[in-house]
Amino acid sequence: MQNETRYISSNAAEYIPVGALRNGVRILLLGAPGVGKGTQAKELQKLWRIPHISTGDLLRAHVVQGSSLGKLAREIMARGELIPDSLIAQMMDNRLQEPDTFNGYILDGFPRTLDQAIWLDSRVTGVGPGPSMIAIEIRMDLEQLRHRITGRRNCPVCHTIYNLFANPPKRAGYCDKDGAPLAQRTDDTTKVFEERIQIYRRSTAPVVEQYRVMGRFAAVKGDRPIEEITAEIVAAVDRLND
Ligand code: AMP
Repeated sequence: MQNETRYISSNAAEYIPVGALRNGVRILLLGAPGVGKGTQAKELQKLWRIPHISTGDLLRAHVVQGSSLGKLAREIMARGELIPDSLIAQMMDNRLQEPDTFNGYILDGFPRTLDQAIWLDSRVTGVGPGPSMIAIEIRMDLEQLRHRITGRRNCPVCHTIYNLFANPPKRAGYCDKDGAPLAQRTDDTTKVFEERIQIYRRSTAPVVEQYRVMGRFAAVKGDRPIEEITAEIVAAVDRLND
């Protein structure tokens, strides 16, 4: 076990391991849109102090900046389709050159195609030995996912996130905290969700299968409290990171 692990919890039965990884690790968080990869990545980033790199967030930042990549990505993302592999590879190549990645990172939303997985593999082996690579799949039932995504609304002012099914605002359509009208991400609509799921099945499920067969892989169930999933991921990484 390579973690310097200590445990904190008010409830001794629910140990949450914390602490920086001694030798770092490269984590690939895999799973369909909406399973909670981003949420888990943020928790793991706090525990391990390695960066959370989300290709979706990087692309949204390009859209906001109005860069040439952002201009191209905007419509593709709104349709729920994938950005061409070559552009994603270029964007990731830039990000992975930043020094905060040298002791490992958590990738969220990448790789999404077999070609991206091949690119990552050669990129990682090309820079010589480094932290080990571990793939974690978060799994969830499709109907639950549909509710999670299509019910998601956010407050554009204070950024509170609601869910019409699981965590609705008190007054339909408005933020509880500041009364602002709630918004929906353009790629969270039912039509776009169905498109994203189809693309996931076609392009990304084979990537998950490839990492499963290669080993250094664990699958965790995503329909549970956030801390439970985090603890299971940490335990799996402890086990696999030898
Ligand atoms: P996400 O926030 O990860 O759900 O990503 C939002 C959107 O960004 C996706 O629906 C795609 O249009 C695009 N995107 C994110 N990551 C990738 C990737 N690795 N390859 C291609 N497109 C991506």
